[in-house]
Amino acid sequence: MTGHTRVTLVQGDITEQQVDAVVNAANSSLLGGGGVDGAIHRRGGPEILDACRHLRASLYRKGLPPGQAVATTAGNLPARSVIHTVGPVYSAKEDRSDLLASCYRESLRVADELEAATVAFPAISTGIYRWPMTDAAHIAITTVHATPSQVQEVRFVLFDAEAYTVFEQVL
Ligand code: ADP
Repeated sequence: MTGHTRVTLVQGDITEQQVDAVVNAANSSLLGGGGVDGAIHRRGGPEILDACRHLRASLYRKGLPPGQAVATTAGNLPARSVIHTVGPVYSAKEDRSDLLASCYRESLRVADELEAATVAFPAISTGIYRWPMTDAAHIAITTVHATPSQVQEVRFVLFDAEAYTVFEQVL
């Protein structure tokens, strides 16, 4: 079904969101990193890392490729599940927009599998992976609007006021 997804914006910390699923801006190793990834593992506890290690030993021996998404437990987070997705590193020479859009599409597909009604996304690739915020916001919002899913609320959680303002303007 399509046309049901409401897009909302909040400024805050994604680990505090009371939603069915939070999306992690992971890296291919699935074994933790900085930014959102570090915060999710710190706050969610070792259960998430155990689940990620299991995925690395089974389905993703070479790591999770950019643009794909996979779910684990959310450990001690208020959310039920974490959907790990790997954004592309920004490149001024090569257009990797399709991969960034794929992160949102694939995360929503996994959210549907989980029957998640509410999903919180960070601004994928805009931190350590250096994607310019305005362009990333366009890709995020247009992709969510164009992707049919059962999710009722997609909540973009922006860490600082600047990112929030950019998303607000794009929306
Ligand atoms: P990537 O490696 O995909 O660039 P990052 O985690 O480095 O991912 O950053 C993605 C975005 O998330 C950045 O805009 C960063 O400021 C923001 N961010 C960092 N920590 C949090 C957090 N706890 N909650 C929400 N957003 C966060």
